[in-house]
Parts: sequence; structure tokens; C-alpha cells
Amino acid sequence: MGKKVGANVTYAVIVVLLSIVLVLGPTVADATGSAVKLTVAEMANLRFIREEEKLARDIYNVLGEMWGLKIFIKIAESEQRHTDAVRLVIEKYGVSDPAKATPPAVFVDKRLQELYLVLLSEGKASSLEALKVGALTEEKDISDINRAVGQTNRPDLLELYAYLKDGSSVHLRGFMAQIRAAGGDYSPQFISQEEFDVAMRGSK
Ligand code: ZN
Ligand code: ZN
Repeated sequence: MGKKVGANVTYAVIVVLLSIVLVLGPTVADATGSAVKLTVAEMANLRFIREEEKLARDIYNVLGEMWGLKIFIKIAESEQRHTDAVRLVIEKYGVSDPAKATPPAVFVDKRLQELYLVLLSEGKASSLEALKVGALTEEKDISDINRAVGQTNRPDLLELYAYLKDGSSVHLRGFMAQIRAAGGDYSPQFISQEEFDVAMRGSK
């Protein structure tokens, strides 16, 4: 009798240990991150979006100072959180960080360096033009995030991009409200009117 109970206990312990190995095994392996290799496209998109979020922060800080518009300063703080969120994923996968040591207004990606200068010259024209630069920056972010989403299946990257896109939709609505309050309007240049309308309604 005693022997049988002992055997049952041993069996139960083995089942429990096996369950722990099955449950924790894959999670631990995934959590190390460094063992996982990203595709070339996934790495390129992370690097690009890391700098694009920094670009939003930098241009908003300059335009906010220039025109004394609080909306820019407030959203620039949000862009700091966005670019930091991308940095964390970049570090997790050991990807080289293009924004590691660059000061404001300086970008490793030539397209973003050029875009920054175009946005700055447009935003200098008037406070209304500056607000339109805000709307343009946000809808371009949404467009680039959509491309990145289309090139990955990784849950952590998809979660990051969903977070960034949600923020961009909120920012777009903020800029559009001020553009319209100032008697202006803005039509999307990078995303479809349909996607623009979805962002204006809220992404959830
Ligand atoms: Zn952002
Ligand atoms: Zn934004």
C-alpha cells in the first residue's frame, strides 16, 4: 500500500516537472531575444522608424518654440516615448541604433535628413503651415508603420507598431482640430483618404 502511494507521488512529481519544462521552456528561449534573428526588412524598418519618431520629436520642438504652440511641445514628449520604445526593441535584438549619438535635427538616414529640412522650411511660413507639417508627419508615420507591419509576423514588433500607430492617430486628430480651428484644412498625401478617416475616428 505504502509503496503504491510512493509510486503515485513520484509519478505526480514527474508530471508537474514536465509541465513546468513545457510551459517555461519556449518562453525562456524566446525571452532571451538575442538568439532570435530578425530579417533584413525587420531590422531596416526598426532603424528607420527609430529615427522617424526622433524626427517628429525634433521638428515639433523647433516649431513649438518658433510659434509658441503648446500642442507641439506636448506631442514632442510623446514622440520621445515613441523613439525610446523603438530603441528598447532595437537593443533587445542587438540591432545597431542610428539615433544612439545623434543630436536634434541630425539623422543617419539621408531621406529623413532631407525630410526634416523640407518640413522646417514649410513650418517656418506660418503657424497654420506648421500645424500642417504636424499632420503630414503623423500621416507619414502611419504610412511607414503600415509598411513595417506588412513585413513582420513577430508579436513583439506588431505590438510596438500598434502602440506607435495608435499614438500617431491621436496626434493627427490633435493637429487636425487646430488646423480646422485656424480656418485651414489638410488632405492626406501618404495614406489613403479611407485610412485617414479611420485615424480621425480613432483606431480602436
Ligand atoms: Zn510617434
Ligand atoms: Zn506623433
